[in-house]
Amino acid sequence: QIRLQNLVKRYGHLEVLHGIDLQMAENEFTVLVGPSGCGKSTTLRMIAGLETVSDGEIFFGDQPVSQLEPKDRGLAMVFQDYALYPHMDVAHNISFALRLQKRPKEEIKAKVKEVAEIVGLTDYLQRKPGALSGGQRQRVAMARALAKDSEIFLFDEPLSNLDAKLRGQMRAELAIMRQRVQKNMIYVTHDQIEAMTLADRIVVMSDGYIQQQGSPEELFKHPANKFVAGFLGSPP
Ligand code: ATP
Ligand code: MG
Repeated sequence: QIRLQNLVKRYGHLEVLHGIDLQMAENEFTVLVGPSGCGKSTTLRMIAGLETVSDGEIFFGDQPVSQLEPKDRGLAMVFQDYALYPHMDVAHNISFALRLQKRPKEEIKAKVKEVAEIVGLTDYLQRKPGALSGGQRQRVAMARALAKDSEIFLFDEPLSNLDAKLRGQMRAELAIMRQRVQKNMIYVTHDQIEAMTLADRIVVMSDGYIQQQGSPEELFKHPANKFVAGFLGSPP
């Protein structure tokens, strides 16, 4: 499982994360919420190894990982903008990492088929990203992450570019995928409904601090302060 211990991030003299302590259970779906600029993406990027750690440590199980290269951390990340390869069809986008690893052709084919089915892309494998809708592109990004067979999945606002209707649909599909794929998942969002429907644990952040963490029900029924109550829409 993943553990953050007194995690601090400074950019020069500016401290943006002030010592985050967080322990996630095995295969838990953790959702980070909080207003713009509170440090959600920074936290995720530090876990992924895309930002250095200024102080504190990140553990995967018993292993400290802050000195490990991103590629050695065994995780998959889905960004807001999906970052698909426009010249490759869906199947090749999904299998990109596997082909880099020179996995056997048959294995790659089977994996693409398996994850395409999970995200509902079976009929679109020959299409290029430019000929897909926003939601379909989002699924390709999700499938590409799933194909990596990682133990840890990080999502940074993957649905934020979608319109409200598609977003609702994808939210429901994500909830189903989440049942099928039991992995450690950390998911960043602004959207309270996403947080409440997907999370095992919600972590509410503001200004580089954790305000409160717990199950959606705990936080909704017993918000620690007005900020949390306001954010999750609890009754006053
Ligand atoms: P949003 O919801 O808008 O994506 P966020 O919670 O993901 O916000 P972060 O991107 O983690 O916020 O940023 C946290 C703080 O760190 C912000 O105040 C931001 O301005 C600052 N910050 C991020 N990257 C840098 C950087 N490279 N240099 C200086 N400050 C930075
Ligand atoms: Mg962000």
